[in-house]
Amino acid sequence: TDTDTADEAVRTTCDDATICKRFATSKGYWKDPYIQYFARSVGERRTPEINRGYYARVQGVNHLLDAFVRKAECDCQVINLGAGLDTTFWRLKDENLMPRKFFEVDFPTVVARKIHHIKTKPSLSKPIIETHSTDSLLLDVHSLDSDRYCIIGADLRDITNLDQKLKKFQLNPELPTLFLSECVLVYMTPSQSSNLVHWAADTFHTAMFVNYEQKERFLKTGWEHADALDMMTIYSMLPQDDVARIEHLEFLDEKELLQQLLQHYSISWATKDKLNLGNAQICV
Ligand code: SAM
Repeated sequence: TDTDTADEAVRTTCDDATICKRFATSKGYWKDPYIQYFARSVGERRTPEINRGYYARVQGVNHLLDAFVRKAECDCQVINLGAGLDTTFWRLKDENLMPRKFFEVDFPTVVARKIHHIKTKPSLSKPIIETHSTDSLLLDVHSLDSDRYCIIGADLRDITNLDQKLKKFQLNPELPTLFLSECVLVYMTPSQSSNLVHWAADTFHTAMFVNYEQKERFLKTGWEHADALDMMTIYSMLPQDDVARIEHLEFLDEKELLQQLLQHYSISWATKDKLNLGNAQICV
């Protein structure tokens, strides 16, 4: 059907993100020793604008995520919606910033591919086994569940099923919870994405929702506090010594192209803070 074809096209978008990240890290924009396991080769050259755009996106999102985990002193959960082949779990482990449990959700076929990579690459599976306390680690085609890391195959447009699956894998609504969606809500209708954001606000009393995508689609349904910054602003707020470093990696002829690109995207975030962790004060 048309829907199946459209969904299949959406599922392949995670490869593009991974290839772009692998290329940018191969150039030295930031470090990610795990991305190589999810993208077969460095791939075609990307323009300096694209590399800088990814740099700003990764730094901006990581900044908000790390700030949340620190405020909660790791006594929290992270739920990455439409995680694709994202490597954040391994980064947090290496940086001693592991939440109590890190959840990822994506379509079952994407999850199956990710799990296959994990199963066949010891550098990916070792950290999961190391942080798991018993012999029973669930690892089947469409789900992985360990003490600290859980990958679930589900359609984010079906909230009832999503909620059931997360609870089956010990999601705890009482824990401070950070939601991440990077270029994901844009693939749903406005009512589907707003249902998802609503569900998140209804289910957790202390939470933060971090969303990266095109500027126009900022949502704040059911949240106490919300903010958004376009990527040009975020780029100008990142640590300027590191920005100076990456600007020397590749020559960029037309600064205007970069500005135009960055102005079309934003990071938005929304918070709820019954536990008074100070989430509303988190900013870039
Ligand atoms: N967040 C990852 C990143 O930034 O690298 C992947 C981004 S990729 C552009 C979008 C991801 O969202 C894909 O992996 C896709 O399969 C997933 N996705 C989109 N709509 C979804 C849905 N309805 N249910 C589950 N996953 C979905």
